[in-house]
Amino acid sequence: MSTRTFDAVVVGAGINGMVAAAELAGSGWSVALVDEREKLGGFIASDPLTCPGFVHDTFSSWHPLFVTGGAYATLGDDLHRHGLAYSNSDGAVTGAVSDRGVAVAHRDPTQTAQSFEHEHDRVAYAAMLADLESWSPHVFGALGSELRPFDLARLGTSMARALGKDASFDMLRVSAQSGRALIRERFRGFEADQLWTPWLLHAGLSPDHATGGLMLPIMALTMHAAGLPVVTGGADNFVTAFARVLNERGVTVILGEAVQHIEIRSGRAVAVQLADERLSATRAVLASTATPRLYDNLLDPSAVPVAGRRAADRHRPGRAAMQLHFALDRPVRWSDSRLDDVPLVHIGSGASSTGIACAQAESGYLPSDPTIVVGQQCVLDPSRAPTGKATLWVQLQELPFAPKGDAAGSISTDGTWNTDTTAAYVDRVLDSIERFAPGLRSTVLHAYSIPPTALTAANANAVAGDPYGGAAEIDQSLLWRPGTGTGHRTGIDGLFHIGAFTHPGPGLGGGSGHLVAQQLLAPSRRTRSVDRVRRAIEKLTSK
Ligand SMILES: Cc1cc2nc3c(=O)[nH]c(=O)nc-3n(C[C@H](O)[C@H](O)[C@H](O)COP(=O)(O)OP(=O)(O)OC[C@H]3O[C@@H](n4cnc5c(N)ncnc54)[C@H](O)[C@@H]3O)c2cc1C
Repeated sequence: MSTRTFDAVVVGAGINGMVAAAELAGSGWSVALVDEREKLGGFIASDPLTCPGFVHDTFSSWHPLFVTGGAYATLGDDLHRHGLAYSNSDGAVTGAVSDRGVAVAHRDPTQTAQSFEHEHDRVAYAAMLADLESWSPHVFGALGSELRPFDLARLGTSMARALGKDASFDMLRVSAQSGRALIRERFRGFEADQLWTPWLLHAGLSPDHATGGLMLPIMALTMHAAGLPVVTGGADNFVTAFARVLNERGVTVILGEAVQHIEIRSGRAVAVQLADERLSATRAVLASTATPRLYDNLLDPSAVPVAGRRAADRHRPGRAAMQLHFALDRPVRWSDSRLDDVPLVHIGSGASSTGIACAQAESGYLPSDPTIVVGQQCVLDPSRAPTGKATLWVQLQELPFAPKGDAAGSISTDGTWNTDTTAAYVDRVLDSIERFAPGLRSTVLHAYSIPPTALTAANANAVAGDPYGGAAEIDQSLLWRPGTGTGHRTGIDGLFHIGAFTHPGPGLGGGSGHLVAQQLLAPSRRTRSVDRVRRAIEKLTSK
C-alpha cells in the first residue's frame, strides 16, 4: 500500500472539514481533505432535481450562521474573490401562518414589533433582544470557543464579573428555559411564538427543550442582523468557491474514498487508511464523522479512550427529517399576500402545534399536523428558475426514522419510508400548504422527495435520518457535545473530532472546523512546550 505524507489529514469535506483544511493550508500546512462522497460540501449542494432550468438547494440553503461566524471572517474575502455571492433581503426575512393569523419578521426589529397586536408584546420584543445584546459577548463567546469543564468555569467567572450577579442569574435562568416557557412568560399575543418557536427546530430542539429560551432570541437577533442569505445561483456555487480556495492553497482533495481506519501509534494518530492508500499525518488528523463511527469503526477498540467509548455508547440521534423540492409554474400565491415576498415561511401555530408534532415524531408517529418549512429562494434569487416560475424548498423536521404509525390514523406504515408512506405524507404536507396558498397543487410541475432514509444514504453523518448530528437537548449540547468532556480533543494525541456532532453543533457556521484549525495554528504555550518535548522524544527514539 502506497503512502503519501501530509501535515494534516481532514476526514469529511462538509463545511467544517473544508473550513479546517482551508485555514490550515492557508498557514502553510500541507493538507489532504478526504470524502467518501463524489462531491465536496457534505450537506451543501444544489442540483437540477426537477425540470430543466430549475436549481434546487438539495439540502441546506440559508447561510446566516456562516456569514456571522469566525470561519467567514477568516475565509470570506477569498471565497468572494473566487465567485461566492449572496442574495439576501433588506425587508421581510421570515414569516409564519396558521389559523391564528400571519406574522412577519423584518430585518428591522422595530418594524417587526410594530406589527404585533399587543403594546405589551412590542415592548417585550425589544426587551428580549436588548437582554440578549447585553449578554452577547458571553453567549456568542461560549458558542464560538472550546467548551470543556474548565473553559465553562472560566467563561462563567468572566460573565459574573462583567454582568454582575443579577444579570448573570437572569441569563442562566433564560438558558435553562424552554422556548415555550420564555414565550409564555414574556408575550401575550401569538406573533412572537408563531414566528420564532418553529426556528428552534432548525437547532434540533423542540419548544419544550431547555436552552430554547436562549436559542429563540439568538435566532431572532441573528436574522435581524444578518437576514437569510442564500448563495446566488445555488449552493453549489459556494462549494465551487471553496474548491477554488482549497486548490489555491494547495490542498489535496480526495473524493469517492472512505477513510476506513485511523492508525494510532504510541497513543498518537499518525495516518488514515483508504482502500488502497495510506495518508500519513505528521501533525494532526481531523475527523468530521458521526461520533459512533469515529470510536466504533475507525479506531482499533484497544485505542479508544474511555471517554470516547462512553460518548459513542451514549450517542442519541435526533428526530429524522425529510426534504421536498418542487418546480412551480408560478411563485406561490398565499391567501395573505404579505407572505409572497417572505424568503422562509413556517406553517404552524407556534409552541402548541410544533410541540405536539415533535412529541408525535419522538414517539415514532407521523405527525398529524406537522410544522412545514417553506423556502421561497426565488424571492431572493430569481435565477433559480426560468422567468415567471419558481422553486419551492420544503423541510419537515419532526419525523420518526422508522414510523410505527400515523398520529392522524390515515397513513399506513410498516416501519420504513416506503414509496406509499412517503407519497401519502407528501400529500398531507401539500394539503396543509394549500390551506394557506390555495391552488398551489395545480402549479406543481415536478416534485422530488428526500425521505429520512435517503438523507442517510446521501451522507452517512445523517445517522437515522437526523440532519443535525445528534439530538440537541442540553445533555448532548455545549459541554456534552460530543460527550467526551474533552472538547474537540479525543484523548488520542493529534486526533481531533469536528463537525455537527461536536460543539457548537449543526449548521453552516463552520465553527468546529475553525476552532480546531485556530487551536492547531496558535497552540497555547503549554501545548507548544508539550509538543516540543514530544518531538524531541520522537527524534531520540527514531534514531
Ligand atoms: C436537509 C438539510 C437542510 C439543512 N438546512 C440548513 C440551512 O439552511 N442552514 C444551516 O445553517 N444548516 C442547515 N442544515 C444543517 C447543516 O447543513 C449541517 O449541520 C452541516 O452542513 C453539517 O456540516 P458538517 O461539517 O458537520 O459535515 P457534513 O455536511 O455532514 O459532511 C460530512 C462529510 O463527511 C463525510 N464522511 C464522514 N465520514 C467519512 C469517512 N469515514 N470517510 C470519508 N468521508 C466521510 C461525509 O461523506 C460527508 O460528506 C441542514 C441540514 C440538512 C440535512
